Amino acid sequence: MSSSSDDDDVEVEREEDAPAVEELDEETRARRDAALARVRKHGDPVLRASAVAVDRFDGALQAEIERMGELMADALGIGLAATQLGVLNRVLVYRVHVEDPITALVNPVLEWVSEELETAEEGCLSIPGVHVEVERPARVRARARDGAGAELLIEAEGLHARVIQHEIDHLDGVLMIDRISREARREAMRSLREAREGVTDAARPARAVASETSPA
Ligand code: ZN
Repeated sequence: MSSSSDDDDVEVEREEDAPAVEELDEETRARRDAALARVRKHGDPVLRASAVAVDRFDGALQAEIERMGELMADALGIGLAATQLGVLNRVLVYRVHVEDPITALVNPVLEWVSEELETAEEGCLSIPGVHVEVERPARVRARARDGAGAELLIEAEGLHARVIQHEIDHLDGVLMIDRISREARREAMRSLREAREGVTDAARPARAVASETSPA
């Protein structure tokens, strides 16, 4: 795991080393748009529902995990929770660096979080066009099972810890905008409206454009 100091400019649910939307080739962009279209967006009540623990580690679960991993990769995301696809199972997938294998956590529980907090920018495939600074514990220890039911113990820091917390929040119906100030939330909702209305990013800083998760 890399040190947390270089995580300030990366964001959850968007590959940090992915090219800007304008630079994607047509096929990649079409695949991304198709994947994003299947992700439930802010305002959909399913994003506020709590997912239910999985008790059958069968082929159906493995197929679900595989589908989630493919969608996440196609959407150029680094994390995805089942609730974001309208499935109320406690399942999440993530891949912090594009060269890593995709990790699936079933029934994840945060067993320990550090007192030390860290603030970094996050984005969310369900809230396209919105980036917010979120403060979270810098390090976590999570217990979960993999798709076959084997126990996993994960110690994470930096972006790895952040994406796990962001996705577990989704399984509890919690969104990143719930973890920021009212003022920041008002600003985020304005960005969301603009993204939905198709306002271009011309006026935004270059870094924000480069990390955009939605088509302009
Ligand atoms: Zn999210």
